[in-house]
Amino acid sequence: MHESFGDVCLAMKQYWGYESFRPLQREAMECVLAGRDSMVVLPTGGGKSLCFQAPAVAMPGMAVVVSPLISLMKDQVDQLQASGVPAACIHSGMTAAERMATHRGVREGSLHLLYVAPERIVKTEFIEYLHNANVSFFVVDEAHCISQWGHDFRPEYRALRVLREAFPEAAFHAYTATATPPVREDVARELGLRTPEVLVGSFDRPNLLYRAERRTDGMAQVLQILTTHQNDSCIVYCISRRRVEEVCARLREAGYAALPYHAGLDDSTRKNNQEAFIRDEARIIVATVAFGMGIDKPDVRCVIHAEMPKSIEHYQQESGRAGRDGLDAECWILYSGSDFRLWQSILEKSDNAAAVETARKKLDNIFNFCTRGACRHRTLLAYFGEGYLKDSCGACDFCLDEKAFREDSSAITDTILRCVASIGSFAGPSYTTSVLVGDMGERVTNKGHHHLDTHGTLKQHGAQVVRDWIEQLVAQGVLRKEGQYNILSVAHRLENASARLAEVERPHASKRKGPIKSQAEAGYDIGLFDALRALRRELAESKSVPPYVIFGDATLRDMARRKPVTPEQFIQTPGVGEHKQRVFGKPFLAAIREYCGLPPGDKAPSNSKKKRAFTAEQARLFSQGGGIDEYSEMMHEPPSRVLGMLLEYIETTGATEPAIWVNSAVAERILDAAQEAGPNARTLRILLAGEASEADIRICVACLKNRATVLDH
Ligand code: ADP
Ligand code: ZN
Repeated sequence: MHESFGDVCLAMKQYWGYESFRPLQREAMECVLAGRDSMVVLPTGGGKSLCFQAPAVAMPGMAVVVSPLISLMKDQVDQLQASGVPAACIHSGMTAAERMATHRGVREGSLHLLYVAPERIVKTEFIEYLHNANVSFFVVDEAHCISQWGHDFRPEYRALRVLREAFPEAAFHAYTATATPPVREDVARELGLRTPEVLVGSFDRPNLLYRAERRTDGMAQVLQILTTHQNDSCIVYCISRRRVEEVCARLREAGYAALPYHAGLDDSTRKNNQEAFIRDEARIIVATVAFGMGIDKPDVRCVIHAEMPKSIEHYQQESGRAGRDGLDAECWILYSGSDFRLWQSILEKSDNAAAVETARKKLDNIFNFCTRGACRHRTLLAYFGEGYLKDSCGACDFCLDEKAFREDSSAITDTILRCVASIGSFAGPSYTTSVLVGDMGERVTNKGHHHLDTHGTLKQHGAQVVRDWIEQLVAQGVLRKEGQYNILSVAHRLENASARLAEVERPHASKRKGPIKSQAEAGYDIGLFDALRALRRELAESKSVPPYVIFGDATLRDMARRKPVTPEQFIQTPGVGEHKQRVFGKPFLAAIREYCGLPPGDKAPSNSKKKRAFTAEQARLFSQGGGIDEYSEMMHEPPSRVLGMLLEYIETTGATEPAIWVNSAVAERILDAAQEAGPNARTLRILLAGEASEADIRICVACLKNRATVLDH
């Protein structure tokens, strides 16, 4: 093996325009280069494809990638070709001419990547065909499909083991976003991986902002959320086909370009609607769970569950379709007890008792997730067995303090607990609520519960609110809910004093704060971004590819921030490789120059020399922890330079929140000190000797300067 890691870095820069790695990408690429079997488990949007694509380009020969769906294969090949990488796929839907072109590429050895469906690759004649080609290594994408334990078992994947036998010399690499250990082991065994390097990344998706809210007026809530995503691609999930049609019709009435997607539509309508969404012609898709497999749209900015899904697994997968490109995206659940009961009644129709029990647990878990007073990132990770290291995620409704907690939480909790205790363990949340709000119906009076001292004590809050508090106490472990009828009892797991009850009223949109890290992406010119987006769509249409194949949102935002006006500046944009520069450089540069009021051409205006700053992608990676030293090692840049680039980034973007890059406790300490002593690095250094590093202080001071500028205006 003669290729060095440097060749891979070169390929990444040349074809993809990337200069930094996402977590574990580097390690995964090293395995490919070394010809060592590997199993790489990274979440959606973790950047799995690049891990094998970049080495495939740097190494001689052709990598063969097994992928389960034609749509996924085509999408990948479209993207590779747009970047100038010789790649092709073989599938049943090809024309004779396309097939011939691909075979020629294989024969002449000009292809670096070949995508093939599993049912084809295991045929004797195809194996023979590959034996005559110069195969560099094999990749099994969506490798969990081979496991019966996985959520997406595909029998045709089972046959893949013959590949290993047919190519004993070649390295095999399995890629998946499914993390459970039994599935992982099963995949390795079934594929016959040989002492594979197993790389498992964190499943946290820091760019996703999670929010959950009880559904009061579902349609009004959906519309309200969508007002903050005027130009974005959004998915709205509903439980039933009927709801999909209803919600979609209401959105269209409200003027949104929304289309439905569910299994009740005929094939061609489904296909057209999906295609329209992918091509940004329809901004919103309203769908059942049937939607999502086989689409890799990277720029979905918001996923709304208008109704509660039936498990956290489903929620994770569906909400995970937001923000694959790493830019901020928002995930909402609008839940209600009636969703819970609906799922429950569906469950009860099954006669497999064990399956019902498991499904019930999953249902409880997702309902707890909705109502629980805890960080949602932490809760999701904990569910999948991963710990969360940060105190606050800065990207969920709880950590952002949007769920106001009531000052009288403990008094109310006390009342509810007394009521539950005096009713005795026989009633569920809805009966208990009627007692607390003073219901005088027969159901209550027959039992004499109108004489309880807690009867009617929470009347002024209304039944819905009281009901919600009860669910919150269940989620916090103060109350227990058991059996088929959800009988309540007091669990005493928490001191009452520490129970917190969130306000049930919906916070006004204006009260909602943005996630603090969105500033890592702020500072771009929205007008220019929109202009570039329009240009991208036009070009995509003329080439019949999805717009993101031309450039992703992250790339356009970076252009809208740095405003490159010469080819030299343009190629510095992450996501712009040499091929794309050649093909798309001219129109994009022209658009930027026009927007900036510069004459056509490619000359730099005088005095445009700027210091080098982080790109948004780099700033984002940096914010994921590790600090200057670790990052500088990763970047192969000296720490002082990394700090300089970050400071330059803060200055150009006007970021005001240091906690993105500095441990939040340390940042708070520095900001406190600066409040007293002023934002002067030298004074702070003396004041905080030993408590904060030089870098931390300078980052905070830079952010404080921006705050002052904001105030000046
Ligand atoms: P996955 O297959 O793991 O869901 P993808 O391979 O689709 O993720 O990558 C998600 C997005 O991140 C893509 O838009 C890709 O171009 C981008 N990306 C991947 N690696 C990098 C990197 N090192 N620098 C910048 N962007 C990257
Ligand atoms: Zn949180």
